[in-house]
Amino acid sequence: MRRLRLGEFELSIFSDGTYPLDGGAFFGVVPKLMWSKKVAADARNCCTAGLNSLLIRTGKQTVLVETGMGNKLSDRMVKFYGQPAKLLDNLSAGGVAPEDIDIVINSHLHFDHCGWNTVRARNGKIVPTFPRAKYYAPEGEWQYARKPSERDRISYIAENYDPLVESGRMTLLKGGEQIVPGITVETFRGHTASMQAILVEGCRPEASGIGHQGAGSVARRPSAPGEADIRASGAQPHTACYISDLIPTTAHIDLTWGMSFDLYPLDTIASKKRYYARAIPQKWLTVFTHDPETGWAYVEQEESGKMIAKGVE
Ligand SMILES: [Zn+2]
Repeated sequence: MRRLRLGEFELSIFSDGTYPLDGGAFFGVVPKLMWSKKVAADARNCCTAGLNSLLIRTGKQTVLVETGMGNKLSDRMVKFYGQPAKLLDNLSAGGVAPEDIDIVINSHLHFDHCGWNTVRARNGKIVPTFPRAKYYAPEGEWQYARKPSERDRISYIAENYDPLVESGRMTLLKGGEQIVPGITVETFRGHTASMQAILVEGCRPEASGIGHQGAGSVARRPSAPGEADIRASGAQPHTACYISDLIPTTAHIDLTWGMSFDLYPLDTIASKKRYYARAIPQKWLTVFTHDPETGWAYVEQEESGKMIAKGVE
């Protein structure tokens, strides 16, 4: 299921396509003997990675979280990753034109998360793909992207964000801000130092009329009676989280299954713990940025401690 209601919001997943990603890079120190039971690899040891954007219709605004890989990759990068560039076509097939997007949010500025922020116009100028949109990205990411380490320099393409920052179209975020009522960002360190998750809180059925309280309200919100029964009773979810590269696919839900790309692997584990401490008891819908099949699911923990992803019926 790629579309659902979250209170008064409507959520949909739109893909920029899939690309081959080296299995060793995808699963870090996890032996192939283990990850190959969950994810298939081809003769080059590549797995298929998805590029999932989340579209949120709030009733007032249309918000796009993440913009895939885009169509501006260098020839060298196309050799590794191809360049699927399907997001605009998929949005169009879903009835969404670039002019319809009011807000774009990037969790971080790696090339496969903000590629369609901009396009190259016929005259060679880099212009915003979404002409009316206000763009948001973590300030720490942008600062880092200006002087990345030798290790991850290849992951940053300045054309995806510098022209937007320079023209004032992109607002840089510290973490904790409310973008619009019901949509907030929160920093989860690990994959990078400043990557931000995007939290989406639709109005809860039992709380309608109360309204949203903005950043910080999520953590302090007491759990309501019967919350554990919400899914069992077939009621809609009330919180979704685009957790981005902290938990890129359903195969990465175990605490220790991080990617080789993570700059701070021990912080990835700590951040996942912090995320699950709220997401599991409160039944958050987790959105998986790179899962080619499961765009979203509920993460649950079995009594043995094993993490499982439960699909949306
Ligand atoms: Zn990344």
